[in-house]
Amino acid sequence: MIGEYMREFSDRLGRLGVQCVSEVSGATLTTFRSGGAVDLLVLPREESELAATLIAAHDCGVPHRVIGGGSNLLLPDAGYAGALIRLSRTGGIERKGRTLKVWAGVKSPVLASYAAGCGLSGAEFACGIPGTVGGMVRMNAGAFGQSVSDLLLAVTVLTSSGQVERLDPQDLDLGYHRASFPAGSVVLSAELRLVESDESAVRAGMRVMREKRSRTQPHAPSAGSVFRRVGETPAALYVERTGLKGTRIGGAELSPVHCNFIVNAGGATTEEYFALAERVRERVRALTGVTLEYEVERIC
Ligand SMILES: Cc1cc2nc3c(=O)[nH]c(=O)nc-3n(C[C@H](O)[C@H](O)[C@H](O)COP(=O)(O)OP(=O)(O)OC[C@H]3O[C@@H](n4cnc5c(N)ncnc54)[C@H](O)[C@@H]3O)c2cc1C
Repeated sequence: MIGEYMREFSDRLGRLGVQCVSEVSGATLTTFRSGGAVDLLVLPREESELAATLIAAHDCGVPHRVIGGGSNLLLPDAGYAGALIRLSRTGGIERKGRTLKVWAGVKSPVLASYAAGCGLSGAEFACGIPGTVGGMVRMNAGAFGQSVSDLLLAVTVLTSSGQVERLDPQDLDLGYHRASFPAGSVVLSAELRLVESDESAVRAGMRVMREKRSRTQPHAPSAGSVFRRVGETPAALYVERTGLKGTRIGGAELSPVHCNFIVNAGGATTEEYFALAERVRERVRALTGVTLEYEVERIC
């Protein structure tokens, strides 16, 4: 049941014309498809609506998080008592020569395909990442030896105090699948510098990447890689040594296809996911002394 403070919040958003939906299943918001009901899903269409949402959440004392495609996070089985703000409707791409300004809600594969259509190369790796540009920038996502940081000219954020700021890549301490943003800031857009190429060559590169993914990664619902690589060593090499490939806890299965993926083999809960992940971690620690770090994020 939505509490009084949430009602005040959603009434206020209603008056401002910001779309929200109450009691949304977490399973529909994450690619692993687990998690209980989220009190309120807020869907701001533009910057001003996002700013109004953040101010209202602050004023009403409502716990809140921004999410994109939910492809790198898991929600609690007991539900999320607060508001999730999803920017998926704040889409749009503007081109100026070799530079694309991409809004946070644009899906990563849409960015890759748009760039290809312009005959621009560099964003091909995004074609198989099932998130949004906001999440991709926040995570400095990457694949096939490339990452967002290779392309990034600037990021525009809305700070926790409601200011729109343009940040340089140097401000973000970018590393392997890691970026540091000012606390509470939301990525609004990113400017990416690409390289002139030929559309058919770019599309051919994307096809190769998609085929490789399709061959080497599971097709069942997942949240991508469970653990971060250790130095330059893929986490899968450590997980492989545990012999736990194919192990199941409830509906969560350590994928036989790629052992750094936990898939939802049917009705898995977030607790089952982390019970399995912890079993793997403990076994890796016992065997090698290495403590694997999570790549996926657990929202509490
Ligand atoms: C099948 C599969 C394959 C994957 N392959 C890869 C891969 O090759 N490489 C890779 O790097 N990742 C991969 N991932 C993981 C994931 O897709 C990426 O990390 C992706 O960039 C996350 O984007 P998202 O929009 O889904 O973010 P979410 O999962 O929704 O959020 C991730 C984090 O970003 C924050 N966030 C989201 N949007 C914003 C915003 N606008 N402003 C501020 N913070 C925000 C959230 O609060 C959260 O902390 C894969 C996942 C799956 C399921």
